[in-house]
Amino acid sequence: MIDSECGELKQSITPEATVKLSMVVPVFNESETVSLFIDSVSSVFNNESSIELEIIFINDGSTDDTLPRLLELQSVDSRIKIVDLSRNFGKEAALTAGLKICTGHIVVPIDVDLQDPPQLIPEMIEKWREGYEVVLGRRTDRDSDSWAKRSSANWFYRVHNKMASSKIPENVGDFRLMDRCVVEALKELPESRRFMKGLFAWVGFKTTYIDYARPQRSAGTSKFNGWKLWNFALEGITSFSTDPLKIWTYLGLIFSSISFLLAIFIALKVIVYGIDVPGYASIMVAVTFLGGLQLIGIGILGEYLGRTYIESKRRPVFLVRQVYASKS
Ligand code: UDP
Ligand code: MG
Repeated sequence: MIDSECGELKQSITPEATVKLSMVVPVFNESETVSLFIDSVSSVFNNESSIELEIIFINDGSTDDTLPRLLELQSVDSRIKIVDLSRNFGKEAALTAGLKICTGHIVVPIDVDLQDPPQLIPEMIEKWREGYEVVLGRRTDRDSDSWAKRSSANWFYRVHNKMASSKIPENVGDFRLMDRCVVEALKELPESRRFMKGLFAWVGFKTTYIDYARPQRSAGTSKFNGWKLWNFALEGITSFSTDPLKIWTYLGLIFSSISFLLAIFIALKVIVYGIDVPGYASIMVAVTFLGGLQLIGIGILGEYLGRTYIESKRRPVFLVRQVYASKS
């Protein structure tokens, strides 16, 4: 079904036809960056007559004056649509909301802080016209990120891609161009815990890259600290692989084989040399080591059980307080 939708859309858009582009922009306490973002987008698209632009801001429960700023911008710019969520649901949920509401032939999720440069979008559109359904923005240098963030990201990609069947391309964030058929496919995925990078990779489609150097944030501060990133990584791995659950079967087999051999060895030793009492240290080491291992195993079971529990409630991914469509 989805394949044919893809084909139909491609055929209906001739090179001269106007293409509708939706930008999906999650914002959380970004009052300093929203107008810089609009300026930058305008400088790229104001002379592009072949593109009809829709800019969807998802206000993810901002507590500063992001919403009034957005409404002010909307009053003079009819391309802007604002979806105000009822609280902070996180970037993944905000993106999900934007993808649900957008109407473009092509859709670009983009950060508001200009770390995903809007200047790249025309080049992405060229690639789309060549026939690609997904055009990823790949970061060639991540100097704008701290050493800790870069190296933990590297480790995350390595571990995730070893375990998960759908690989996440390295150094690629949410910034990408997607054909309508890709967005429709994403909308069909029913899970409520949404690790978007993983979902994007899972749906597949004909993909290419364009490279760019990731600039610094235009203003304001990053919303992701170390603890949030750690939980994000756990989310990524547990959403797309059950390998951590299976490890315990193999570890259990290894340890029971070792203890079986040890039992034979000790029995033979008792038969040959008689009973020997010392051995406290080795017993303590074995008991505490295995105790620790079992706790880790239970912890990992708990991690999955918790996720199944939350998923089983079928709560909505986000709640909308109000949608502000432009009046003109
Ligand atoms: N963001 C959001 N909800 C959140 C956290 C972040 O909508 O709970 C948005 C934020 O406003 C920005 C984008 O997600 O547009 C990326 O956030 P940020 O720049 O802080 O992340 P970083 O670039 O540091 O990874
Ligand atoms: Mg950023």
